[in-house]
Amino acid sequence: MKDMQYYVTQPKVDAHNHLNLGMHYKTYIAWAGIDIPNFPRPMHGLEEMHEIIAKYTRPRAKTEADVIQLIKMSIEDAIADGVTRLEGSIDIGFMVHFKEDMDRFLRMVTDFVAGYKDTITIAPELGLGKTFDKKKIDKWAPDLLKSGVFTSIDLYGPEIEEGIENFASLFKLAGKLGLKKRAHVGEFSDAGSVRRFVEFFNLDEVQHGIGAARDDSVLQFLADRKVRCNVCPQSNVLLGAVPSLAEHPIKKMLDAGVPIALGTDDLLFFEDSVSVQLYHLVSQNVITEADADKILQYK
Ligand SMILES: [Zn+2]
Repeated sequence: MKDMQYYVTQPKVDAHNHLNLGMHYKTYIAWAGIDIPNFPRPMHGLEEMHEIIAKYTRPRAKTEADVIQLIKMSIEDAIADGVTRLEGSIDIGFMVHFKEDMDRFLRMVTDFVAGYKDTITIAPELGLGKTFDKKKIDKWAPDLLKSGVFTSIDLYGPEIEEGIENFASLFKLAGKLGLKKRAHVGEFSDAGSVRRFVEFFNLDEVQHGIGAARDDSVLQFLADRKVRCNVCPQSNVLLGAVPSLAEHPIKKMLDAGVPIALGTDDLLFFEDSVSVQLYHLVSQNVITEADADKILQYK
């Protein structure tokens, strides 16, 4: 039986990390000077998580310097876990903290990539929230995508299909520019929604996608198209998307031939690093060591 340290020492990707919430709680409170009562703890879905964000973390991130510090903490906690490739999402809304100055915003990203290049590969992702001001997204996103700074695009927010057509042209542009196209779907939503998102946006990867496990034909569809799902088991447990780690469908997805990478989602809320999650999955016999090796191929 491999111990936790084995997984820490393996080169690996964190394939699903929102960089403004990607640090351990203890790292966060040491910087923030506030604590979140009774935390980390199980939450009732995304709604409760967004209440905590609105009450505690969003008001604490006011300035450009705050955003930079949050991202820095996330990168350093990933390094401490032995992550060698960090596919980290940077929310387009943070342009506001940079006084809507695109050059300053992009410089922050390139400075991080260059500054850490000897230690960790940072693959910056442009994150689009469905509920953020669409006029601002349309104003900023095309140039941000064309800047060459980002390697992927992600769409997140309420898991609804209504309104996704408003993002179609940005995903087309991202595809033309050679960026990886990703979206959050199938965290709580069903298998059909995963398939429809993949087809609608021609997604390369899905953030979560565990809803696909409820329909074998959708698993087969993902496997045939080699659409990787970037799964975050501890996030799914603490938000109540699955009843327990033992009942997580990751094994079913792997056995169906769906490419699977792991992510932390929001380490601040979910606490378990990629190594810890891998160790728990193997030691609790949710997946085998051979499955873990398959997951570790992405690095
Ligand atoms: Zn996420």
